[in-house]
Amino acid sequence: MTTLGIAEDALETEYEALLSFMYLSPVGIVRSDKSGLVDMMNPLAAQLLMPLVRNGGIENIFDSLASVAPELRNLVSSFEAERGPVCENHRVFVTPTKDGAVVLACSIIKVNANQLMTVLTDISRQVAAERQAKQTESWLAGIYTNVNDFAFFTLDANGRIESWNPSVEQLTGFTETDILGRTLEYFYARDEVDAHRSPEHIALTRDEGWHIEECWCETKGGRRYWGQILVSVLREDEGDFSGYSVVFRDVTERKVTSDNLTRLLTTDHLTGASNRAHFFEAAEVEIARARRHSRSLSVVMLDADQFKGINDTAGHQAGDEVLKRIAAEAKGILRSSDIVARLGGEEFILLLPSTTSNEAAAVAERVRVAVESASIDTRAGPLQATVSLGVASLGHAITTLESLLAVADRALYEAKGAGRNCVRIGHIDDAGVVVDCEVCEDSRAQADL
Ligand code: GH3
Ligand code: MG
Ligand code: MG
Repeated sequence: MTTLGIAEDALETEYEALLSFMYLSPVGIVRSDKSGLVDMMNPLAAQLLMPLVRNGGIENIFDSLASVAPELRNLVSSFEAERGPVCENHRVFVTPTKDGAVVLACSIIKVNANQLMTVLTDISRQVAAERQAKQTESWLAGIYTNVNDFAFFTLDANGRIESWNPSVEQLTGFTETDILGRTLEYFYARDEVDAHRSPEHIALTRDEGWHIEECWCETKGGRRYWGQILVSVLREDEGDFSGYSVVFRDVTERKVTSDNLTRLLTTDHLTGASNRAHFFEAAEVEIARARRHSRSLSVVMLDADQFKGINDTAGHQAGDEVLKRIAAEAKGILRSSDIVARLGGEEFILLLPSTTSNEAAAVAERVRVAVESASIDTRAGPLQATVSLGVASLGHAITTLESLLAVADRALYEAKGAGRNCVRIGHIDDAGVVVDCEVCEDSRAQADL
C-alpha cells in the first residue's frame, strides 16, 4: 500500500470514529464551514433544528437559526482567531410551540480557519424552572412589602380588558370607557411600550398558568409608578379556558428599595465607584456586545503613584480622600455608558465600550491631567497626586477579558517604569506576548481638544 493509501485509511477511520461519536452524542452536533454550510449533523441536531426550518432542508446552520438567532452569523464572522470558542451556551429562544417555550444553548467552536462545530442542547426545562423560581420570588417579595394599592380585573381570551371595577380607577385613573377592550399595554409608561411585551406576557401565562411582569406604568394623570402585573388563566367550572384574571399592583416602594440594594451590592463604599464584582460582570456583558456588533472596546488600568508615601506623610484618612477624588475626577470625564471601578487598594479600572485604543488613550490622558491639576482638600491640608495609566483594547489577539486585563496591566507597569504620571498603550502579538507599549504622544494633543 502506498503512503497515500495509508493516510487515506487513517482519514477514513477518523471520519467514522467522528460519525459514531456524533451519532451517540446526547447533544445536537453540526459540522459546517465558516459560512454555515452543513456537511455533517447528528440526528438530535436535526430534531432540534427541524421546527425552525419551513421547507425541510437544513443546508446552512445560520439560515436555519436566522429567525431566532440572527446574531450567530455576525458572531462567527467577527471572530478573528483561527480557532477557539466563538460562543459558549449562547441562549436561543425558539418561539413557543404547543409544548411550551423551547430554549436552546448554542456553543460554536471554530476548529480551523474554515470549519465550525456547533453544539446544541435543549435547556427548556432548566429555563422554565429558573423562570418559575424568579416568578415565585417576585410574587413573595410583593406579599412581604408594602403594596400601596392594587386593582383586579379580567381579560378575554384574546387578552383584551373585559371587566372594570372602581379599584382600577383608583390605581390607574382610567375609567371604564377608557380601558374596556384595550390590552395591558394601555397601562405602560410611554417609554416602556414595546409591541412584544403584552402578547408575550399573555402567551407565557397561557403556557404556564400564570405569569408576572413588572415595568414602569403611568396613571391617566401622568404619575409614574412601578407596576407589577400578575396574570393567571381563568377557567370555567368545567375547566374550559375562558380568559385571564389580572391583579395589578403599585410596588414602587419595593422597586426603590431593591434599586438601593443593587447600588449597595455594586458600589465600592469608599469611593462610590463600581466595585470589582460589578466590573467583571459588566465587562463580560460589554465584551459579548462588542463582539456581536463588531464594535471596539477598551479598558484603562489606573494606579495612584507613590501612594504609600501619601499615606505615610499625610495619614491614611488623607489617603482615602485622595482615592475619592481620583474616582470623582475619572467619573467627571467619562460618559454615562462607561464604568469606573475600584479593583482594589489604589488601583482603578475604566471600562470604555465603543472606544478605540487611541480614543481610550486620549481619555486616559485627560484623567491623568485632571488628577495632576487637582488640589485635594484633606484634613492634612491640600494635597497633590498623580496616576499612571495603561490602555488595552479588544482586537487581534486580545479577545477575552483576561487578555485585556493582562495587557492593560503590562502597559501600566511600563508607565510606572517610565517614571509614573503618564499613559502607555499595550499591544500583543500572535503568541500572546506584549510586544510594545506605545507612548501615548498624540493623546496629549487630543486631550486638549
Ligand atoms: P507605585 O507608584 O509604584 O504604585 O507606588 P505605591 O506606593 O502607590 O504602591 P504600593 O503598592 O507600594 O502601595 C500602595 C499603598 O496603598 C499601600 C496601601 O497601604 C495603600 N492603600 C491600599 N488601599 C488603601 C485604602 O483604601 N486607603 C488608603 N488610604 N490607602 C490604601
Ligand atoms: Mg500605586
Ligand atoms: Mg498598586
